[in-house]
Amino acid sequence: MTEALARLHPVTGPAPRAGLDLAAAQRAARDLLTALGVDLADERLRETPRRMAGMYAELLTPVPFTPTTFPNDGYDELVVATGIPFHSLCEHHLLPFVGVAHVGYLPGERIIGLSKLARVVELFARSLQVQERLTTQVAAWLDEHLAPQGVGVVLEAEHVCMSLRGVQKPGARSVTSALHGRLRDDPRTRQEFLSLTGGSRV
Ligand code: ZN
Repeated sequence: MTEALARLHPVTGPAPRAGLDLAAAQRAARDLLTALGVDLADERLRETPRRMAGMYAELLTPVPFTPTTFPNDGYDELVVATGIPFHSLCEHHLLPFVGVAHVGYLPGERIIGLSKLARVVELFARSLQVQERLTTQVAAWLDEHLAPQGVGVVLEAEHVCMSLRGVQKPGARSVTSALHGRLRDDPRTRQEFLSLTGGSRV
């Protein structure tokens, strides 16, 4: 690990990611800003390329966690975590999209700690993303690790690139969903999930 990486990733932080070269990122940030006409000789901006590179490195480095699962003792209703705050970077403009995730599943033989549902969202959010893929990746992860009877993921987010460029009014939210198994096929379960997760949508 380079010294720069060690500063960015203290022992308790995320592991350094393959392909991450912070020094090269700083040089490139300096070049980009200079090419955009920014005068980096200005004392106030001297450290900006370093901060910019470090920020993107952090936002693009997933936080690993241990996906411990437990045997299910016969619970056969929905497990839902609503309003999980998340942020990610749009892969087209490298601007943030920010919102909340609602994640649920109908257990099969395994369950997982509720806090881990938020960690799964963060795992895939720390990457260049589109909201649709982030939604399906979270659902696929739960399918793979829990083999549940059904999975539901709803993401609501505001995309800064859209708000800034006037395509949508500021505050407009994009909503995406992935419903698998009984949450897709069983009307009662599907309706229950959507009513549990719809409360925060106006
Ligand atoms: Zn964008």
